Amino acid sequence: MNSKFCPSCGRDTDELFSGLCKRCFSGKVKLLEIPDKIEVKYCDCGRINGRRKWKYYETIGAAIKDAVIVNAKTSKGAKISADFRTPSVMEPLKIAVTATADAVLNGKTVSDSKDIFVFLSRQACTVCGKRRAGYYEAIIQIRGAKNKEVLELVQSELEIMFVDDESSYVSRVEEKKEGIDVYVGAKIPARKAIEKAKKIYNVETKRSYKLAGTKNGKPVSRETMLLRIKEGI
Ligand SMILES: [Zn+2]
Ligand SMILES: [Zn+2]
Repeated sequence: MNSKFCPSCGRDTDELFSGLCKRCFSGKVKLLEIPDKIEVKYCDCGRINGRRKWKYYETIGAAIKDAVIVNAKTSKGAKISADFRTPSVMEPLKIAVTATADAVLNGKTVSDSKDIFVFLSRQACTVCGKRRAGYYEAIIQIRGAKNKEVLELVQSELEIMFVDDESSYVSRVEEKKEGIDVYVGAKIPARKAIEKAKKIYNVETKRSYKLAGTKNGKPVSRETMLLRIKEGI
């Protein structure tokens, strides 16, 4: 008996067809299945949607690898790797990638590779999309004396928080007769900014909620936070 084995599924076989067993050659079994083209979205803020979720990656290569893994169908326990070439100047967003699956099947080490293209496409991520659309969940109403000074403090606090949590963005600032309104992307950073102002200034605060439609089927409440600075401080 011959001791040949199929390099794709690891089965022993008497006969190889183009180097594969009958089953693998017929195309019914594949160690690695992956589309010829994969799209990877990136945003101007630096986030990349590698694994169907927006996040920051150390390198674009790490994002491409994630995209290859999430798009590949393979045997259980196979290890996927991605080798990619530097894109051409002419087509900087088209990256040639060799995806490889390595596994131990039927006691044999097997491997399969496929050359594909990863296309990078620019798109606003969820956070940037919301910010551009003017979305907000909190309004800080600064009232009373020194409101410009308090505004500066609130804005710089939100900027610091923005580094770790982009929902801390300020969607707009409205100067009114009665004071200044600051529209903030999310409630928690807005509350934190108010806590900071409380430590420095003698302020009175009051919170109120209002239902503001739905987001992904869930009700969204908007919080208005009144920040009144007392005179003489
Ligand atoms: Zn086979
Ligand atoms: Zn973004």
